[in-house]
Amino acid sequence: MSTVKTVEAPSGYEGSGFFATSLDQVIGIARSNSLWPLPFATSCCGIEFMATMGSHYDISRFGSERPSFSPRQADLLMVMGTIAKKMGPVVKQVYEQMAEPKWVMAVGACASSGGIFDTYSVLQGIDRIIPVDVYVPGCPPRPEQILDGLMQVQELAKNEPLRRRESDEYKALLASYNI
Ligand code: SF4
Repeated sequence: MSTVKTVEAPSGYEGSGFFATSLDQVIGIARSNSLWPLPFATSCCGIEFMATMGSHYDISRFGSERPSFSPRQADLLMVMGTIAKKMGPVVKQVYEQMAEPKWVMAVGACASSGGIFDTYSVLQGIDRIIPVDVYVPGCPPRPEQILDGLMQVQELAKNEPLRRRESDEYKALLASYNI
């Protein structure tokens, strides 16, 4: 006749267990799933953003359903549309008013490169005035492409070392834009 022995868990190891990770990763995961976008929409690409916010494409699946129209409460500047050179300083001021860490997405051909408006009055890409993290191609990009750009920003946020914003490399990047 066999007997069944019950083995008691050592003290301190009860429950469902735990994972070891780094603070960088925990904060990165939290940040990447709660990016608050500031939609800087000037023309047609902004309409695609409205579709992206709607229930069909449902940007809230990514934790970004809360658009912020205050730069102080936004993590992600989404520039969508043609930016005239006169508008450039406004874009830059909005960027400067956002707190770190912050990311920038150029949505569509106009924000990325001036698009079809190769003319004296149009900024030939917002990266002439502020650093851009992700470019979304298209004229206009479909909502799926905007979501793909958002997922790329999420990856950047998730994998960013905590001290990156204090690094000489990052400060040099800002200095190259006179920021
Ligand atoms: Fe309009 Fe095309 Fe420019 Fe977007 S990229 S703002 S759709 S012209």
